[in-house]
Amino acid sequence: MQTLKADCVLDAKAVLGEGPVWRAETQDLVWVDIESARVCCFYPATGENKTWDVGEKPGLAVPAKKGDLILGTSAGFVRLDLASGELSPIIDPEQDLPNNRFNDGKVDPEGRLWAGTMGMNEAPNVGSLYRLNRNLSADKLFDQVSISNGMAWTSDHKTFYYIDSPTRRVDVFDCDMAGGSVSNRRTAFELPSGMGYPDGMCIDNEGMLWVALWQGWGVARFEPGGALLAKVEVPVECVTSCCFGGENWDELYITTSSRDLDRTGRAEQPLAGGVFRCKPGVSGPPTNLFLG
Ligand code: CA
Repeated sequence: MQTLKADCVLDAKAVLGEGPVWRAETQDLVWVDIESARVCCFYPATGENKTWDVGEKPGLAVPAKKGDLILGTSAGFVRLDLASGELSPIIDPEQDLPNNRFNDGKVDPEGRLWAGTMGMNEAPNVGSLYRLNRNLSADKLFDQVSISNGMAWTSDHKTFYYIDSPTRRVDVFDCDMAGGSVSNRRTAFELPSGMGYPDGMCIDNEGMLWVALWQGWGVARFEPGGALLAKVEVPVECVTSCCFGGENWDELYITTSSRDLDRTGRAEQPLAGGVFRCKPGVSGPPTNLFLG
């Protein structure tokens, strides 16, 4: 197994840093601090980190082709105009479930947003995975989800990988990308013991999966059959998500949490809540933009 190091590029002291996604046009990293209800754009070239307070907890923020961001919050899908800071509701598929909120999400190669929900008190099996379509309608893909997290599609779009964190598994589905549906769920692999819980996930251009390790001090690279290929060591226990970015899509950006640390933990993990970066020697596919 290869061991890689990550550098802290933004000592953000976020409570629950999450959801990194790279924008090629503006060369910045969109990410969220869920607990602080904040959406951020980090510009590595200058070190600037712009923030927007959005009121509701944003589990995800993804770039749309129009230049704005689509958020998933406890109030459903919401559009954030970055120039004005204005928020406009799109649709809330869980209007009847006030104790749920959106968590992780990702735009598919057809420009639709896939995003899942969870109970805010982490009640088991009350969440679902949804697809926000280009016409701004939303469809439920499946339910019985506890903490919806990482997603990735293979480069041929025929396979979908998915993480419901408490299962400690990466699951795999057959994917009909034209129709935007998934079927034939099975286990791809279970996380080795001692690596914590799988959280956010991305796929590289060799078809290998990068899984953020909540309580696992890093990001692990797995072959889809489960062989552990590499680990990026991060000096924070709760690592939340990762994405490829940079000019050549060969930098892995990593978000972390400080939420559950007591005073001793904060002293031992002074960079908790920061954004980290690693050059892993492989690149990833460009970010898909939401086309609605
Ligand atoms: Ca997450």
